[in-house]
Amino acid sequence: MNHQNLYRTDPEIAGVLRGELTRQRGCIELIASENHTSLSVMEAMGSTLTNKYAEGYPGKRYYGGCQKVDMAEELARTRACKLFGAAAANVQPHSGCQANQAVYQALLNPGDKIMGMSLADGGHLSHGAAFNASGKFYDSVFYGVDAKTERIDMDAVRDRALAEKPALIIAGASAYPRIIDFAAFADIAHEVGAYLMVDMAHIAGLVAGGAHPSPVPYADIVTSTSHKTLRGPRGGLMVTKDPEIAAKYDKAIFPGTQGGPLMHVIAAKAVALREAMQPEFKEYAHQIVKNCAAMAQALAEGGLRLVSGGTDNHLCLVDLSPAGVTGIEVEQLLEGIGITANKNAIPNDPLPTNVTSGIRLGTAAMTTRGFDEAEARRLGQIIVEAIDKREDGSVLRDLTTEIDEMLVKHPLYPELGTHPYS
Ligand code: PLP
Repeated sequence: MNHQNLYRTDPEIAGVLRGELTRQRGCIELIASENHTSLSVMEAMGSTLTNKYAEGYPGKRYYGGCQKVDMAEELARTRACKLFGAAAANVQPHSGCQANQAVYQALLNPGDKIMGMSLADGGHLSHGAAFNASGKFYDSVFYGVDAKTERIDMDAVRDRALAEKPALIIAGASAYPRIIDFAAFADIAHEVGAYLMVDMAHIAGLVAGGAHPSPVPYADIVTSTSHKTLRGPRGGLMVTKDPEIAAKYDKAIFPGTQGGPLMHVIAAKAVALREAMQPEFKEYAHQIVKNCAAMAQALAEGGLRLVSGGTDNHLCLVDLSPAGVTGIEVEQLLEGIGITANKNAIPNDPLPTNVTSGIRLGTAAMTTRGFDEAEARRLGQIIVEAIDKREDGSVLRDLTTEIDEMLVKHPLYPELGTHPYS
């Protein structure tokens, strides 16, 4: 990991890597979909496995020389099954979107109806948004959150499913702070004769660590990213309790939607999945939820409105309109004091998506870094103070100093030291 060859051959890119390490070390990461992987995960990624073509699956490849990469993929698949209590897994999707695309290809025909959570209410663009392949090739309809509670209303989901009769129902979200009732989704899917797909991308680490109910016993098929709360390399995966669905899915990934799998990424997924089986990972997953609750409480006490009134998971969605600021303004304000976060639409947001009335805050990365509840609470207070005193340079300077002190207390990748090549 000292990048000495890169510094010699391509100092510009080496400089980018060094700059990004400095950036990550120098800010508290509150983007709910991001995390800091272990150095072991990164070592597996930056390995000779990137050189290998391995179209097909372990033992059935279209290339020679796959003995070692077969072992890596087999380990990743076995670990994914064990971790999530599944009968089969596919660890080849290059990303979460591609993991989802392959579900549609495996289980549907073009033009079939799919029903997911609307993007405006916290769903993901790959769940049927008009501008995404999922919305172009399938007939997509949506459910949302209740206007008053801002939670998914399962009676409304059932009514919509009975009226629309989709072939596939999708549960899972990108900006939903509450526990999702997978059993209720499964009942509705069975009632209307639909498949149930759960996209657990955001909560996979919580599920792995026992801090969120698992969708695996309920869903026909479960997709995920490997890089959010699960803390692996960027990529996608699929787990299911149904071997027949798994066989269809395998074909939909290769040759259906992808060519050669990224074997270095698959090895890194295996490393992350092993890490997720360790007792410390359980502690991490529960700490994420505790930290988020503590931060959210401080935000609410400071006068900000939490969408749905709170959080049960790793993220909270904050309505900034009571403070008279927009999402983009707060994103920039926080960046200025050393906190990275992202603007996010809130349900029924009157502002455009590049402005928004909300900000989404997640606690996975800061928990990886070692922050506890007291610090999470203080972070919530700091965010409120920064918003309230956004015109006051000296307050903002003091808050920046306080953030810097927190960062020093929780160094990121200390093993890399300050070596010029690291
Ligand atoms: N599914 C959900 C619920 C997500 O939140 C995301 C990413 O934010 C994805 C899928 C897509 O993952 P990727 O960016 O790896 O395509």
